[in-house]
Amino acid sequence: MKPGEVQLPRRMAHLTRDERGYPMIATVGRGPKGVDFGAINERRKLALAVFDWCAVCGMPFGDELRWQVLSFFGEEFDRHDEMGFGEAPVHEICAVYAAHVCPHLSSPNARLGDEHRAGQRREQTIRVGGFRRTTRVDVHPSPIQPGVSTLTFGHADEVDHFAYARPEELGARYHQLLRNEQDIVVKPSEAKLIALFNSVADENNEDPAGVVAGAAMYAGAAYAPGILSVQGLSEYAGHADNARLFLDRESLRSWAIEAPDPSTRLMARWLIARNDNVPEVLAGWRKIGRTSPLPSKSRGRRTR
Ligand SMILES: [Zn+2]
Repeated sequence: MKPGEVQLPRRMAHLTRDERGYPMIATVGRGPKGVDFGAINERRKLALAVFDWCAVCGMPFGDELRWQVLSFFGEEFDRHDEMGFGEAPVHEICAVYAAHVCPHLSSPNARLGDEHRAGQRREQTIRVGGFRRTTRVDVHPSPIQPGVSTLTFGHADEVDHFAYARPEELGARYHQLLRNEQDIVVKPSEAKLIALFNSVADENNEDPAGVVAGAAMYAGAAYAPGILSVQGLSEYAGHADNARLFLDRESLRSWAIEAPDPSTRLMARWLIARNDNVPEVLAGWRKIGRTSPLPSKSRGRRTR
């Protein structure tokens, strides 16, 4: 279906539309040349992981379930317990919206330009599962590109699921989700960070994911084992050296005012506002930062 034919969830209203009317979802890279819906962007995935945002609308999960595609074109992702998912999770309403309009999810044609399957009719159903908690974000060697690592997401407590072969089958579910949609309330600092992350370009006319991923590294992602080996993240080695400056509350208070970069100021305010209630994955990374005797530089090297 075309984007104009499907009602937009309220939480997606802030997203910019491209010239065809598609909302620029949070996980896709953008910049002077526009948006690349086909590419998965590791800097964006990192920011989504750290701030616990949905990969479609870019808003926080809060108490809502985290949804992932479990099987696709008959390929089972049943090993996800071990491997994790290569894409960041989404809200249910965002998953069902995407099922309606995303050409990759709703059409019988292939995803990501896979020539082998292009033009085939999709007969298999797509299964989507909802989990209560995101428990792990790991650095994993890419199965496609040797020498490159990507981020994978792991979840616990799968409590709901649905399946579909054609998006029309989800009409009743979507209607119900739209009717029950809760507004997501965020503090002003997080709202500004979300607005920056989802803007089309930053002040240097580049993808704002660059600066937001930098803030995510300072927030604690710098302590994720092997993080600098992830595609597009090796440039943040300097951030890894300085992440310890963002571990305690007193220094966060000064960074919240004095950090030269707006996304770093907003991140510091976000951490202060979250107090001890930071997302589970980030809490684990900050704990490594507080307890590990290793200088952060050595943690950037690949250990596997
Ligand atoms: Zn969402």
